[in-house]
Amino acid sequence: MLNIGCHLSVSQGFENMGKQALELGGNTFQFFTRNPRGGKAKDIDTEDANKLIKLMKENNFAKILAHAPYTLNPCSKDERTRQFAFETMADDLRRMEYLPNNMYNFHPGSHVGQGIDKGIELICEVLNDVLWDDMTTTVLLETMAGKGSEVGSRFEELRKIIDGTELNDKLGICLDTCHIFDGGYDIKDNLDGVLEEFDRVIGIDRLKALHLNDSKNTLGSRKDRHEKIGEGNIGLEAFERIVTHTALKDLPCYLETPNELDGYAREIALLKSF
Ligand code: FE
Ligand code: FE
Ligand code: ZN
Repeated sequence: MLNIGCHLSVSQGFENMGKQALELGGNTFQFFTRNPRGGKAKDIDTEDANKLIKLMKENNFAKILAHAPYTLNPCSKDERTRQFAFETMADDLRRMEYLPNNMYNFHPGSHVGQGIDKGIELICEVLNDVLWDDMTTTVLLETMAGKGSEVGSRFEELRKIIDGTELNDKLGICLDTCHIFDGGYDIKDNLDGVLEEFDRVIGIDRLKALHLNDSKNTLGSRKDRHEKIGEGNIGLEAFERIVTHTALKDLPCYLETPNELDGYAREIALLKSF
């Protein structure tokens, strides 16, 4: 059975997100660790966290995915911005241990003119500072569209981040279908080829999660505008191939499509029907 869910609002609390995921027909979900533009997170309600853990066990949930604020930039030119990324990630990861053995996803960042190699070096610095030996969370680098000076739109760049991180057994990849399509990887007409390339460059074992999003733009556009499943340039047939592919079908999938809850429920049902 497909492990699928969608992005939910964390303001309702942990257990309620679990209940909402079930109501939508899913068995996992994604949430922002705090306001997506950054800022202070609420104190962890441990009772609520434990209720979610119980609900997840009882209902056979796949791992849930916490998403870092998307404004974090661990490879900024500005030292204070990098320090903020470090502090936020360190705090998020410490809090994730109240929901042990789940996953935390972040955007590698934008090098803002310093060049890809400098960007990668700075990202590795932050990762080397925030990871620790007996943490239980898997930290995922998200594949990016390559908008502006984003790092992580090429598999080779993600490989270098992994190689530059000491505790890289804690690292995995979250593949965003819209992002890699916009980044030029043709998952619509050459899914096998893209996955072979992923395996050759990064290793397919590193692939831990999928963000399922159609794209408003075309292959290689480097834009990053998500579309509802089947209504964009990737198209429904490609999504059927993706969620049924032997290398992908057991991975947890998270929808980040432009939808209200009823739209998410429809997309979850549709993808489960394949
Ligand atoms: Fe993301
Ligand atoms: Fe994404
Ligand atoms: Zn996106």
